Amino acid sequence: MSKTTENLKELVEKLHFGEKVARAEELLRSYYDLYGDNAVIANSLGKDSMVVWDMALRVNPNAKGFIVTTPYKPKQTKDYMEMLMAKYPKNLKLYQAEGDGSEELYKETPDICCDKYKVEPVRRAVEDMNVKCWITGLRCTEGRTRTDFQEVEERDKGLIKLNPILLFKEREVWQYLAVYGVPCNELYRHGFRSLGCAPCTSITADDNERAGRWIGTSKCGGECGIHTRPLKGAVGAEA
Ligand code: SF4
Repeated sequence: MSKTTENLKELVEKLHFGEKVARAEELLRSYYDLYGDNAVIANSLGKDSMVVWDMALRVNPNAKGFIVTTPYKPKQTKDYMEMLMAKYPKNLKLYQAEGDGSEELYKETPDICCDKYKVEPVRRAVEDMNVKCWITGLRCTEGRTRTDFQEVEERDKGLIKLNPILLFKEREVWQYLAVYGVPCNELYRHGFRSLGCAPCTSITADDNERAGRWIGTSKCGGECGIHTRPLKGAVGAEA
């Protein structure tokens, strides 16, 4: 893995849409060459994941991915997920924690809730699918918690993380979905800009794209944990 010496923040402004798409495709091509089926996409069903998913399938029609769902996903997200699972039965696997969500951990302890319903199933997917390189739709202009990521990282030893559309602005995500004709989750029509579980996701007019996540908690505008917690080993095993 080589860490780029380029100034990514400058590139966000300097590169045009076509250059960003070409760069992302090249990253995907290189890492599929390196990792084959051990390179796996984490598909969150959001707009950014769908750009990566569409791009990856164009680069590699056998691209593999996993979706993590929770008991709290909105109906529209579940419908969209079922559509995708039916369309790509050989490419996508679904993971979900045990439990029906009736304990409502998100009310008092959202971090514990996210650990149980999001981080643990991602860890299981990483182990089960023998993932050596996980591919995400993370972007560095999404919000306060996402400014310092790299296109290629190794936060967990032995697990490369590839963020091929790190440099895309929100407008370029929509540009891609429009130009390549990729259908998206119906919730975007209502005004959502970042999608998550129903109890923890609101529509806001804030400039910050992730401002509607976990409003009223210490996690407001933050992260569920899959991009910040270790993904190797069992939940709770880390220091
Ligand atoms: S986003 Fe909310 S409901 Fe979903 S797992 Fe995290 S805390 Fe629980």
